[in-house]
Amino acid sequence: METRQHKIVIVGGGIAGLAAAYRLQQLLPQAALTLVESESRLGGKILTDRVDGFVVEGGPDTFLAYKPRGVGLCRELGLGDRLHGTNPDLRRTYVMRGGKLYELPEGLTGLIPSRFGPMARTRLISPWGKLRMAAEYLIPPRTDDGDESLASFVQRRLGRELYAHLIEPLMSGIYAGDGEELSLAATFPQLRQAELEHGSLVKSMLANKRKAARPHVPTNGNRPAPQSGGSRSAFVTPAGGLAEIVEALTKAMPRVEMRLGTAVAQIRPAGAGYDVILASGDQLQADALILATPAYATAELVEAFEPEMAAPLRAIPYASTVTISVAYPLSQVPRPLDGYGYVIPRAEGRSILACTWTSTKFPHRAPEGFALIRAFIGRAGQDDVLEQSDAALLELVRQELHAVLAITAQPLFYRIYRWPQAMPQYTVGHLERLARIEARLAVRPGLHLAGNAYRGIGIPDCIASGETAAEQVAAFLRSLDHTALPAVAGVASE
Ligand SMILES: Cc1cc2nc3c(=O)[nH]c(=O)nc-3n(C[C@H](O)[C@H](O)[C@H](O)COP(=O)(O)OP(=O)(O)OC[C@H]3O[C@@H](n4cnc5c(N)ncnc54)[C@H](O)[C@@H]3O)c2cc1C
Repeated sequence: METRQHKIVIVGGGIAGLAAAYRLQQLLPQAALTLVESESRLGGKILTDRVDGFVVEGGPDTFLAYKPRGVGLCRELGLGDRLHGTNPDLRRTYVMRGGKLYELPEGLTGLIPSRFGPMARTRLISPWGKLRMAAEYLIPPRTDDGDESLASFVQRRLGRELYAHLIEPLMSGIYAGDGEELSLAATFPQLRQAELEHGSLVKSMLANKRKAARPHVPTNGNRPAPQSGGSRSAFVTPAGGLAEIVEALTKAMPRVEMRLGTAVAQIRPAGAGYDVILASGDQLQADALILATPAYATAELVEAFEPEMAAPLRAIPYASTVTISVAYPLSQVPRPLDGYGYVIPRAEGRSILACTWTSTKFPHRAPEGFALIRAFIGRAGQDDVLEQSDAALLELVRQELHAVLAITAQPLFYRIYRWPQAMPQYTVGHLERLARIEARLAVRPGLHLAGNAYRGIGIPDCIASGETAAEQVAAFLRSLDHTALPAVAGVASE
């Protein structure tokens, strides 16, 4: 059978687009692959600066080890031995309450406490809050079927105090989001599942404990990937920062044409494929396309021919955030950095969300004798934080570090990273929006989406979404090789 060389364009050079391109190179070795990225560098939200022996992460700093495609891709790229877990000697995080730091109780599983002892002992939650939490056992499950917010679910089951002082800051650390808006079904569906299956979270926890006590026959499914060095850390990261993954991917894709500093302005269906119109006015042709761009950018690209896809894409809101890393000689840090840092509940009324004590969490990120600290600023609904000057942002962080760590010195250096519209918010109704988007994709053969806007914002989820899109493109193009093209073109140009 005669087959011609397929042209595939991937738009967006974040981790999702890069993972898609890498997988396509493996699946379709004969295809012409082009990746188009508007910025002058690859990586998107992954941005590592290496400064005088410090490894400074501007965006993400680590990823979940148990989700297979993070560690899995690193291994494929030869980075398996570069992965480090978090410092096992000081596995401790604090939560701020009333300006003071309290140790996060151990044994939180999927945000929810799963051990009685640490919850009973913690001073972070009042006796009344603990009683209210214990009453969860008796609260009947919600019977109606619709989605609800994460805040509504946690408050309904475990009480307001637990939500405000424990769950909310942890959730903010993942989504920089507002729990009153975030969808339970799209963020923590397993919690609703536990409520439905067992009648309560406590009963579900007890059932899981009984199950765990039974002899276990291993199965082969999605087991967490073992880590090098025998570490059992929940999070891992390459020694030289997450940019190592981007660098390794770039090196491993000699056959992919990389067009950096090139924005795509519009997509247009053309015959059985698509025209990709660049902001420069040039255009590329594609038999298949992967749009690995933020949802609002994807909406712009498809608006002209797919308004019904653009509307739900545009309805996915985004939060902006800023990270600031500061470095000090340890001698200038009076309070010991004896943990991974702390999170700050919204109820504390501060614009700083969290401070990571990076040099404790990942000791290889700072030279011996130095501290590296990173603050997150800006919650959902506080986009104005991006407008503040560097001096104002740095001052905010210095005040925070003075209040909590008693640091008065000027930092050795600092780095500020502004991330406008960076964190997609899976708000109530997110899964319905996805269903509407997917219904339109089903009648647009060869058009695929990937990235953090849809089914997971963590790096392993983004990698998996890129790889899945690549597999769908490969299946589609192979099917074209076996089918008469005019039939497909009829559907595509509807
Ligand atoms: C501050 C911060 C901290 C985080 N911490 C963690 C963490 O510790 N662990 C974790 O797992 N995740 C973390 N995340 C989330 C994770 O980093 C992101 O979800 C993920 O990197 C997004 O990858 P992506 O490829 O979907 O999108 P992006 O990285 O946003 O890539 C999209 C790319 O598309 C390009 N683009 C947009 N429009 C166009 C256009 N018209 N034409 C061409 N190119 C275009 C953009 O320039 C960008 O490079 C964090 C995110 C942020 C912002």
